[in-house]
Amino acid sequence: MSKAESVVETVDVLAVDDEQVNLLLLSGLLRRQGINVVTARSGFEALKLMPKHDFALILMDVMMPGMDGFTTAERIRADDATRHIPIIFVTAISKEQRHVFKGYETGAVDYLIKPFEHDILKSKVQVFVEMHRQRMALKQAGAALERTVAELRTSAIALTDSRARFQSLFTSMFNGFMLLSCEGCAPASPELWRLAELNAAMEQIFERPREDLLNKTTGEVLPNLEGYWNDFVAQVAGSGQPAQFEGYMGELKRWLRVSAYVPGPHLVALVVEDITARRQAEETLHERTFQDPLTGLANRALFLNRLDQAMERSRRRLNYLYAVVFLDLDSFKPINSSLGYASGDKVLCTVAERIQSIARGLDTVSRCGPDEFALILEELKTPGEALRVARRIGQELRKTLEMDGHMLHFTASMGVVLGPAEYAQPEELLQDAALAMEHARALGGGKIKVFKWAMRKRAQYALTVHQSLHNALEREEFRLHYQPIFTLADNSLAGFEALIRWQVADRLVPPNDFIPHAEQTGLIVPIGSWALMEACREAARWERDFALPKNFSIAVNLSAKQFAQPDLLRHLARALDETGLDPSRLKVEITETLVMQNPESMVHKLRGLREMGTKVSIDDFGTGYSSLAYLQRFPINTLKVDRSFVSDMDAFENLVIVRTIVSLAHNLGLDVVAEGIETERQRDFLADLSCECGQGYLFSRPLPQDRALEMLGVCCPKISV
Ligand code: C2E
Ligand code: CA
Ligand code: CA
Repeated sequence: MSKAESVVETVDVLAVDDEQVNLLLLSGLLRRQGINVVTARSGFEALKLMPKHDFALILMDVMMPGMDGFTTAERIRADDATRHIPIIFVTAISKEQRHVFKGYETGAVDYLIKPFEHDILKSKVQVFVEMHRQRMALKQAGAALERTVAELRTSAIALTDSRARFQSLFTSMFNGFMLLSCEGCAPASPELWRLAELNAAMEQIFERPREDLLNKTTGEVLPNLEGYWNDFVAQVAGSGQPAQFEGYMGELKRWLRVSAYVPGPHLVALVVEDITARRQAEETLHERTFQDPLTGLANRALFLNRLDQAMERSRRRLNYLYAVVFLDLDSFKPINSSLGYASGDKVLCTVAERIQSIARGLDTVSRCGPDEFALILEELKTPGEALRVARRIGQELRKTLEMDGHMLHFTASMGVVLGPAEYAQPEELLQDAALAMEHARALGGGKIKVFKWAMRKRAQYALTVHQSLHNALEREEFRLHYQPIFTLADNSLAGFEALIRWQVADRLVPPNDFIPHAEQTGLIVPIGSWALMEACREAARWERDFALPKNFSIAVNLSAKQFAQPDLLRHLARALDETGLDPSRLKVEITETLVMQNPESMVHKLRGLREMGTKVSIDDFGTGYSSLAYLQRFPINTLKVDRSFVSDMDAFENLVIVRTIVSLAHNLGLDVVAEGIETERQRDFLADLSCECGQGYLFSRPLPQDRALEMLGVCCPKISV
């Protein structure tokens, strides 16, 4: 071990975390690497420790009570004595971009997300500890050198003696050292200077023995030296002021940091530190921060950074055209679940390669979601060029991909934003490209859509509707109306269908205006659950107050999302239990399309309903494509003929359809309710077909709660108490 190394054996690393266990873990992991871990339980404690140690690195927890990690880091940065100390934030919070950038503003060097892999922590820490050690060694060597130089300068007698010490110092030095002599040549032409002395470390950097180098001119040793090296040395020689320079030396294929001094007349001393390893480590660090580890493409952070630059260019240069393409694979998710994650990863890599094969060198390709990619196409000649590139990517992805013996086919939906566009932030632009992609996907996959402002308006409108629906729930603005259903044979009351309305001031908003939005945003679940509870409560009251006919039921509409809830049955049971409604009085209406989307999984839920004693009706029947086989297996009670067939029964084909539905239902042992009966002719016709029940404006519109009560009072005897 050389002298320089032996002086700086253990290195102090500060770990700041409010949790003792984390500190113990960090200490345990790092102590084995010859590191002295100093710990602090808070930002304040950390700041107090700063003057007492020369820390190589700080591992900083972000979330701490009192002063958080970012603030502590800012304080450390604010002090000249400690601002150079690298900080790695160790955080459990997600690697949200904003956090990463916040960290970089305060000068973070890196992030580690808890729980972190121990090897990653160790390797990252090792890089900084090594840098610190090298800095220390250089500092010591530099100080010794300066002392020697000072002695050289002041005393001629000491010269020979010092030379000897000087010699022994620099032969054993950790860093390279060489002395250039410019005696007899122009100070502006360092290529003519001779190597007067060099140490062993310098021989290693040159990868040549001392005899090959001594007394040669630098021009002979390094004939292709980059100009900036010569400029640097010439400047030091000219000014007599020490200076430092860091750069790449092509001939040696190394990154070097060179400190130059003028130790005496016609002499320039160079301390040369090989920083290639550190540079490489920094590059890996950069890759880890800015590269998607799976595909090696740029990650979202780098993408946004490049996009920012492109936006800036378009502001400065007239007619600078660029475009952003947001790409989403249309059916990637099933790959993971059917072929496994390893195959899924391979597919993503292939997709990444294919996209990159179409993109040009100056374009940025990034992966910014599990199966989402984004591109910046720069220096476009026409906007049409962007679409051509997008189309070619689409074609490339369509090519068959073989994976573990499976032939896979992919399409991608793409959204395009054409620049220059008025955006303050790159995130907004990317968001609009994603929005355009959503529109493309709604067209059925494999399509490309260019972003238009109307899309943003629609998205904003949807957001407003979502907000106001959310408020409506809290402010109890929903109402139920009840439309009576009659037995056609004798005009007796067979039940009601509960239909929701939204009371906004004195206006009643019909369900078709808000149910689709509620369905899209998922709000239908709480809204539907309110409707269910309310309908059960009302019907339970009717049950107490009136002698209801035997088959009387209250029908409640259930949406697809509601039906898909895993706890649907429990939820229904609770509504019945809390309101005390007889389960056989409740009839849930689900649409034909919903039932047929996933018939296998429906059977299970429908059986559960049957076991509870609740009835099931298939709504809008005739508009979907029912499979007879399934209808037979489903435990259901009623088919509801869709209004469209009833309203236009004069058309021959509708008449045939209604007749077919009724006889199909009867064959399966189900009864039929016809909805939308508006004329006596329709009612008579349906009665002739032995359709059991009917509902429609002919009998009554949906009624508010009090009017429904009135109708019950007319149709059913009251129970006297
Ligand atoms: P739906 O279940 O098919 O309900 C029947 C719709 O037809 C009701 O419209 C009703 O007012 C209307 N209607 C009844 N008789 C006639 C008639 O003779 N002529 C005409 N032209 N129309 C008639 P509404 O109340 O506007 O409800 C529309 C849809 O909203 C319902 O269709 C249902 O799908 C949905 N909906 C209503 N309430 C709820 C609810 O609580 N939850 C869920 N998920 N959906 C609901
Ligand atoms: Ca219905
Ligand atoms: Ca219906």
